[in-house]
Amino acid sequence: MKILVLNCGSSSIKYQLFDIDKKIVMAKGIVEKIGLEESILKNNRNDGDKVLVTEEIPNHTIGIEKILNLLIDKDHGSLKSFDEINAVGHRVVHGAEKFNSSVLITDEVVKKMKECIDLAPLHNPPNLKGIAAIKEILPNIPQVGVFDTAFHQTMPDYAYMYAIPFELYEKYSIRRYGFHGTSHRYVSQRACEILNLDFKKQKIITCHLGNGASIAAVKNGKSVDTSMGLTPVEGLMMGTRTGDLDLGVMFYLMNKENLDVKAANALVNKKSGVLGISGISSDMREVEEAEVKGNKRAKLALSMYNYRVKKYIGAYAAAMGGVDVIVFTGGIGENSPETREEICKGFEFLGLDFDSNVNKGIRGKEMVISKPESKVIAIVVPTDEELVIAQDTFEIISK
Ligand code: AMP
Repeated sequence: MKILVLNCGSSSIKYQLFDIDKKIVMAKGIVEKIGLEESILKNNRNDGDKVLVTEEIPNHTIGIEKILNLLIDKDHGSLKSFDEINAVGHRVVHGAEKFNSSVLITDEVVKKMKECIDLAPLHNPPNLKGIAAIKEILPNIPQVGVFDTAFHQTMPDYAYMYAIPFELYEKYSIRRYGFHGTSHRYVSQRACEILNLDFKKQKIITCHLGNGASIAAVKNGKSVDTSMGLTPVEGLMMGTRTGDLDLGVMFYLMNKENLDVKAANALVNKKSGVLGISGISSDMREVEEAEVKGNKRAKLALSMYNYRVKKYIGAYAAAMGGVDVIVFTGGIGENSPETREEICKGFEFLGLDFDSNVNKGIRGKEMVISKPESKVIAIVVPTDEELVIAQDTFEIISK
């Protein structure tokens, strides 16, 4: 069984071709700069063969056509023909309250996905373009949608509601949805597999710390709270996003700096966070390097970043009545021992006995980073959203 996983962004398409029976990724790659003159297509086959093509790729349909043709290319391909592809799984960013799990894509499902566009105007349209392109090129292949928001649909109303007039929730569906759901689901389940724990009986806090960052409280197998909200700007401090911010700051700045909605949006989403405070970069590696060299704003940015994660862990432990496992994932969570140490330091009162020595050497691999006698387990679990999409797709089309 071969499944193609697509993650269609506004100007890029990431893909992975899975052989589910052999449990391997046969090929993966990316199309970048769609719509620009020099688009790029990169394909890496699992035997080490690499291809990089630069040519004009004006839209998503042509991008997907190029990917598919490369996958059956006689020199660089992985398949003999398209007939070998059993299904296509898509990452879909926003499923609103309409989708609480992955679904087989039908015309009715596409209609409902279109109704979610208002909530994710930048993300859902390219996701839908990918679905339409596959329908056009491979009309008989089943497609499955896997939503970033679905895992968090189990949050109770008192966690997902904002304290705005209730009619506005009814009118516009304004509430916390949360994102990175596929990642929070995967790493919380995977942590339990590794630790041989019953997922349905644990209190888990998952820290997805990447360029975008969010944290989730997963109790008895269900997401009960998460830090991102209606949009991905809420919660933790991120590469370029503010995370939590007093709304009054925005009113003040919009007034003083004469910002319209677009400019205010750019300020909180693109110019703030680690980049805004450090003035150096949104990339954690560069900020960590600057801190080592004594840069004070880099140090401040890192302290703020870690402090915010720490506060959320405390809050979610309170929300769940304790915590059994804390999971680190995402580019920073998987690769920055310094960040993990700063966050975990001082959690002895929660029952976490952190193993600083083991933590130091861990980058990008599964590893427990608390001491064996620790009551609370801290663990690094590299995320794999594409694998979840492939597995969900397999399960749905096998039914
Ligand atoms: P992601 O969005 O999950 O791809 O994560 C991207 C973030 O991970 C960027 O801020 C990177 O700087 C950070 N990152 C990747 N590798 C490392 C590393 N070795 N040390 C610190 N941060 C890292």
